[in-house]
Amino acid sequence: MSKFQPVRGMRDFLAEEAKTMRHIEQTAREIARLYGYEEIITPVVESYELLAAKAGEEMRHRMYAFEDLGGRKVALRAEFTPSVARLVATTLKRASKPLKLFCTGSLYRYDEPQYGRFREFWQANYELIGSTRPEADAEILSLSYDLKEKLGLRNCYFKIGHVGILRGILTQENIIEEQQNQIMQLLDKKQWNDALAVLQELGASQKCTKTMKNILETQGKDVSKVLKRAKEIVKDYESAVAAVDNLRGIVDLAQEGEAKIELLAEMGFARGLEYYTGMIFEPYVPDFETALGGGGRYDKLVELFGGEPTPAVGVAHGMDRLALAMEKIKKTIKFLASDKERVIVIPIGEKLIAKALELSSMLRKAGISVEVEVMGHTVSKALQNASKRGFTDAVIVGAEELKKDKVVLRDMEKREQKTVEIKHLVNEILRD
Ligand code: AMP
Repeated sequence: MSKFQPVRGMRDFLAEEAKTMRHIEQTAREIARLYGYEEIITPVVESYELLAAKAGEEMRHRMYAFEDLGGRKVALRAEFTPSVARLVATTLKRASKPLKLFCTGSLYRYDEPQYGRFREFWQANYELIGSTRPEADAEILSLSYDLKEKLGLRNCYFKIGHVGILRGILTQENIIEEQQNQIMQLLDKKQWNDALAVLQELGASQKCTKTMKNILETQGKDVSKVLKRAKEIVKDYESAVAAVDNLRGIVDLAQEGEAKIELLAEMGFARGLEYYTGMIFEPYVPDFETALGGGGRYDKLVELFGGEPTPAVGVAHGMDRLALAMEKIKKTIKFLASDKERVIVIPIGEKLIAKALELSSMLRKAGISVEVEVMGHTVSKALQNASKRGFTDAVIVGAEELKKDKVVLRDMEKREQKTVEIKHLVNEILRD
């Protein structure tokens, strides 16, 4: 046995899996087109400083970071948002707003491999840049919902929260940003008691700890009720109240739409990334426990990278997890009709190879997948082999039939064959 295996956390995608991933990618691209997002391609290798700036402690720790031969500290991208924000701060700084960008590709994190968690994984990423308005946030929710629907993943719902509520309380209580980040990391991992303990260690007032505890416990599917309760809890914290109102506006738009998106509001919901400033969310589907993506508003990142103050909101969908969720509900992918057909053209004897090549070109021009026999097999061996490899049809090119501009077409599944005129060959193949 070879000693070579994929490196831990890395995978090969064989034909079926690769097809599924490309289908998800193509569907994500179609959603981008429908919503007016333009696709861009950014580098896999970026400066470490850029990627690390607001990644949060956890992600910084898990980055594939190294020094290149030129002595630059670089890393493999662990997410797309820093690259997009870099572009908006530089090359695209004069682009008219809103700027809507889509990108897809592989990302790298030294996570602990497990079901749905790999060290190389794929995302479909959408960023809406230039608007502070709730309709921008609602659009990101809506396109996330549509992507799931188009992939056949029904009843998608979102866990939703707002970073401004938690940070609003902490800022007014004079907890500095660095300490807030530490608390948000703990909340992201649902370590509420540890987060409250840190607050106490920092000498936060009793009122602060009590308000935080109450807000963490405020959650539910009846979003109106949750937000009403949240507003009562934070009533003495001006910017937290504004954050609740902002979330209310987004939620109303999301639920007024045609889709009536189901939401689970969690006021203690935090995400590890430090650049979020507003609404944050994660999409889920029933019977699949892990988040299928993550997103939110980040109004300060472009500015941090030296650009103009530029509000933005975005989402990244985990394509590997979408594939797993589809597999779990046995969602079969409907490919184009012409993708069903796989034809092999078998010449009888060396003299007819050129004719076989000519016929294969003709079939390809009609969009049919065609191979010409290349193993030098006899017809019966070639047919046996074709059957093993899953061909749907075989075209047998013999001298006798050719004299009458005909070939033999064999249906590999039904094991039946007939002689057909070459000019009718395409129609005959596509007919069944
Ligand atoms: P994050 O930015 O960490 O919230 O990631 C957004 C989405 O990317 C997650 O909800 C997952 O669907 C996907 N994702 C993140 N990390 C991994 C990983 N290590 N393996 C597979 N998918 C991942």
